[in-house]
Amino acid sequence: MPAASSFSAFQAPSGTRDVLPPESGQWELLMATFARIAHGANYGLILTPIFEDFGLFHRGIGVATDVVGKEMYELTDKGGRHLALRPEVTASVVRAFVQHRPTLPWKVFYCGPNFRYERPQAGRYRQFYQVGLEALGPDDPVLDVEIIELAWDYFAALGLTRLDLRINSLGDDQCRPAYREMLRAYLAERRSRLCPEHQERLDDNPLRVLDCKKEPCREVVTGAPVQLDTLCGACAQHFGLVRDGLTRAGVAFRVDPRLVRGLDYYTRTTFEISALALNSAQDAIGGGGRYDTLVESLGGPPTPGMGFSSGLERTLLACGAEGIDLDSQGPVPLDVFVVDVAGGSDGADVTRQLRRAGLRADQAFGSRSLKGQFKAADRSGAPLAVVIGPDEVAAGTIGLRRMRTGAGDERQVSVARVDVVARIVEELAQSNTEPVKADEKTMRQ
Ligand code: AMP
Repeated sequence: MPAASSFSAFQAPSGTRDVLPPESGQWELLMATFARIAHGANYGLILTPIFEDFGLFHRGIGVATDVVGKEMYELTDKGGRHLALRPEVTASVVRAFVQHRPTLPWKVFYCGPNFRYERPQAGRYRQFYQVGLEALGPDDPVLDVEIIELAWDYFAALGLTRLDLRINSLGDDQCRPAYREMLRAYLAERRSRLCPEHQERLDDNPLRVLDCKKEPCREVVTGAPVQLDTLCGACAQHFGLVRDGLTRAGVAFRVDPRLVRGLDYYTRTTFEISALALNSAQDAIGGGGRYDTLVESLGGPPTPGMGFSSGLERTLLACGAEGIDLDSQGPVPLDVFVVDVAGGSDGADVTRQLRRAGLRADQAFGSRSLKGQFKAADRSGAPLAVVIGPDEVAAGTIGLRRMRTGAGDERQVSVARVDVVARIVEELAQSNTEPVKADEKTMRQ
């Protein structure tokens, strides 16, 4: 057996990353902001498994997509089941709808990790987190506007301003087949100029060529016919109402007839929001669209639907690029740190008393020196320290001290132990740091 020192330490797998405090506070803020916006429009939280039957994604997202065809994490479990780690959440939400048949309209939001075997780079990971929402039932364009508006409100609530919202309509079962054939014919005439993969796979699904990132395909696609010019009357009317609704809502958008998204299930409205500050290939911070045939294709009754999802990692990059200070809006800091040199259980008892009163309190562990504990109190960021020594225990008091006012601060006051909570609340109010009651949210709104 090799010596222990010759083992290299394990690292997070390529394309994944650990998010530690305090950076994770920014993630909490994004999730809490999204939940607030979603709740405000009557969307409820949904949790679905991280792995699903492989066939769900194969059928739901489309085998010709990169997401399914190239990037899926597939696995066979010990029972021989063919499973996949979810590459996105919409297919799972629709599967849950078909399985449980909740009443319509059904409005849900989610937050969680997804997995795609992509080439890792800034803003592109193999495990990445999304927040998103889905609404099933209405085919009303008012829903399209609601979802795009909520996406917009979420980014605005984070302070993002340099955004580019593009919308498009991909038609429906009525007008898409004719467009698909027109596109196939156009591309077939130029087959030799396409990338090798699409020269071969063009006939399976010509729409996927529109989404190809390779230069030869991009050049050919520049002159290709667009679905928007061939929409049927119903789709054209729907798209017109979406545009009107967004204008009324004051959401700035532009129509981009070349916008196609990487998943096959979209019908009619699709949209994408890019962060102009990111200035890179990885600038899409969110997107979504209608999927009016997905429920049916997964075995449910004909039920229209629409959704939106946004990558947390990318959104954080965008906030950074716009210079938004998320740290100061993140989880509220500690109220008080308990320094205990009495050596008994009094420190833990007082800490418990403070926490049960709804104060955010921490304590030092082990029998560290007074100096060591004050250092820990300083590092914790708490504005106040409670000090407990043998004298305080004997007298039924605690010492209360303001932190961050310089070493050797003399302003330690003695407070009767029964009054400690009231006194701390008073001190916090004076320093404008509102204490948080036990039932309040942990995020600043
Ligand atoms: P999609 O599910 O492909 O529609 O992507 C929705 C959003 O998820 C994108 O706009 C990105 O913000 C984010 N996203 C997608 N793929 C990745 C990835 N590999 N790494 C990080 N974020 C991603």
